[in-house]
Amino acid sequence: MTTDQPAARCAHFVLVPLMAQGHTIPIVDMAHFLARHGAHVTFLTTPLNALRIDAIIQRAGASGLAIDFVSLHFPCAEAGLPLGCENIDALPSPSRDYLPNFLRACDMLRAPFTQHLRRHPLPPSCIVSDAAQPWTGEMARDLGVPRLIFHGLGGFTILARQILHQEDVYVRVTDESEILDVPGFPHPLRVPMAKTPGTFWGPKLQHLRLRSMEEEAKADGVVVNTFDDIEAVYVESYQKMIGKRVWTVGPLCLCNRDAAHMTARGNKAAVDENQYLRWLDSMAPTSVIYVSFGSLVTAGVEQIVEIGMALEGAGFPFVWAIKAGDQSAIQVDRWLAESGFEERTRGRGLVIRGWAPQMMILSHPAAGGFLTHCGWNSTLEGICSGLPMATWPHFGDQHLNQKVVVEVLRIGVAVGGGSANWGDENSGTVVRREKIEKAVRELMGGGEEAEGRRERARELGEKAKRAMEEGGSSYQNLSMLIQQFPAEEE
Ligand code: UDP
Repeated sequence: MTTDQPAARCAHFVLVPLMAQGHTIPIVDMAHFLARHGAHVTFLTTPLNALRIDAIIQRAGASGLAIDFVSLHFPCAEAGLPLGCENIDALPSPSRDYLPNFLRACDMLRAPFTQHLRRHPLPPSCIVSDAAQPWTGEMARDLGVPRLIFHGLGGFTILARQILHQEDVYVRVTDESEILDVPGFPHPLRVPMAKTPGTFWGPKLQHLRLRSMEEEAKADGVVVNTFDDIEAVYVESYQKMIGKRVWTVGPLCLCNRDAAHMTARGNKAAVDENQYLRWLDSMAPTSVIYVSFGSLVTAGVEQIVEIGMALEGAGFPFVWAIKAGDQSAIQVDRWLAESGFEERTRGRGLVIRGWAPQMMILSHPAAGGFLTHCGWNSTLEGICSGLPMATWPHFGDQHLNQKVVVEVLRIGVAVGGGSANWGDENSGTVVRREKIEKAVRELMGGGEEAEGRRERARELGEKAKRAMEEGGSSYQNLSMLIQQFPAEEE
């Protein structure tokens, strides 16, 4: 952990992620941008989360970036969590049952972290914290510092979420199959209640969602990981609606394009660098489909087998990331070892059992398509790599992200069906191989539609890069953010 004191008085950004990969990774990326542009950054983490990004922490220290990764004891036992549950992805199944305890443990970080900040030689200029860390709003008021909300969601979703909240749907509507019109959205939008982002919390935990929303209403502004070329219309409506400044600062995954950083994002990769890069190098350009469902979607062995058979049947080269921690991990390993799948797909398939270096794979010239659960980070990473996507959302914001990819940007093919609850691998209906194979063939095959998708995806990839280059819209917004919250006068 570094505690280097900054040489000159500069803006001091305090970043507090939710300890979940999809929320932490983009904030780590943002920390690097801010520090490279002269700000001092304090980044809140915990021992096990720090261990996962140890390589990133070491590199930041070695390159002299003023990022303090402050690692505080995460009070699992005190909050009634099993030991080691320092990240949402470590919660036992069904994860939602443990969420209140997890958020209670997060709340308990308030006292030690406030104390740390009070003792810091450089007073904070601004706290940028995850929407799901409402205690940071209270802390900001204690410290007399502005708080900005960081959303791990895109502009389309935060607008729909805000409208649905103001329409009180999570109180009024009890039937999950009810189709909701989202009034005041920039274009007609109809969504089944079950596919709206607020259902992530389930009916029993709505009070936790409300607490976050109440704190959001008190915040001083909002930072969104998106870029104007794809979502300006939604962000503008949202900004009007909440009456506060919204900074579009993405895609944050482009803050760092050097290989070592991209490899180390989020976790230690479960695959040897030489092995997968050599393998990708041996593949024809744009021939490989990358398959991953992010850090939280869990799948039972039956579903895993269907995906495997679809990839085998479709016949395209693939890299398939299968999480190591699923309940059915042993059964999956047995199936991989005994079914002959790996033998039959040898040479054209690479299975990564555990954490995959996703950005490295997606940005490799051999990558030609992405079968994704539509987590917002994965969606942006697919866009940045100029890839068309086969979309298979499961819960939370993923259904709306699919709409962005398929209906707004027209760079996706929907697999269709099969959503499951968060952290409960037995809750979904199994999607059969034929359906998955059809989507993969449509995505990776030839024909006018597929080519059109590819061309649009390529153009969006260029726009994403321009947004984060000097002079680009997100680059400018990040720079303005630093100017907006300068160091406190001595
Ligand atoms: N990720 C990764 N390797 C994996 C799984 C996920 O690098 O094996 C990264 C991915 O690149 C993305 C994040 O983890 O940055 C997942 O965030 P996303 O919003 O896509 O989905 P979530 O995990 O929150 O459902």
